[in-house]
Amino acid sequence: MARNIGPSCRICRREGAKLFLKGVRCSSEKCAFNRRSYPSGQHGKNRIKVSDYGVQLREKQKVKRIYGVLERQFRRYFHEANRVEGVTGELLLQLLERRLDNVVLRAGFATSLAQARQLVRYGHVRVNDRKVDIPSYQVTQAQTVQMYGKESLVKQITETLEVTKDRTVPSWLNIDKTHLKAQIAKLPSRQDVPFAVQEQLIVELYSK
Ligand code: SF4
Repeated sequence: MARNIGPSCRICRREGAKLFLKGVRCSSEKCAFNRRSYPSGQHGKNRIKVSDYGVQLREKQKVKRIYGVLERQFRRYFHEANRVEGVTGELLLQLLERRLDNVVLRAGFATSLAQARQLVRYGHVRVNDRKVDIPSYQVTQAQTVQMYGKESLVKQITETLEVTKDRTVPSWLNIDKTHLKAQIAKLPSRQDVPFAVQEQLIVELYSK
């Protein structure tokens, strides 16, 4: 399983953008990026000129980190996106958005991707009434993702929904907060990606 085992805030500072890896803290004043948006280390502030390759590489690393995906898996997503007809960069982002752990996060059932992934791994997620404990599972249109577990878990997720209530729910998800359900109304489009990403740079990088 892909995991960031280093300090998450350092990753945001390295990539020069808020990647929202720590849940509630990311929207608070405690966010490290708000205070220091430059890379950590002695020379962090002294930016050197970055080559085109460097820019492409950083964009790829940023997207990998947002979705918590390792290189080999990310490359597989790229090949999958490249194989089918359409705009490769957009298809790549769509594949990443359709991951089950991401759906749990976007629906507001978790505050961070790490928490969403743990809920999936621990078997608290059903897709069309069947347990699915694979975070990379690809949801498809009309499927229903539902959280389930003991009373304490239901209480925890209900509280989480309260914490995440101000987040924008993507238009491709219909959320039923009472039954802790999210229905995939349509497949996510480019406009549904909530991060500033230049996917074309990733396509250029992998097309070399
Ligand atoms: Fe990034 Fe700020 Fe969240 Fe840390 S708190 S992971 S710097 S967005």
